[in-house]
Amino acid sequence: MGESAVIPILLQWLVFVCLLVFLCGIFFVWFCYEMSRRARERRAVRDRLRCAVCRMEFADRTTDPLATCPRCGSRNERALADPH
Ligand SMILES: [Zn+2]
Repeated sequence: MGESAVIPILLQWLVFVCLLVFLCGIFFVWFCYEMSRRARERRAVRDRLRCAVCRMEFADRTTDPLATCPRCGSRNERALADPH
């Protein structure tokens, strides 16, 4: 009984807490990276459109819900864009 039993437990806890903080840090960095990657991919998919008239694929970065095809000038809805 006494200090000899208390100190090893404290050291174990210290190592455990350090590992936990370290792992949380790695997970946090990975999570941020993954979120930014997915947001970028989703934006890229949303911007890519295929014209319903001439089947031309083009990128549109405006916030307009109807994108204008650069080849034939027809208006294409974003929601109907082919994701492939
Ligand atoms: Zn077109």
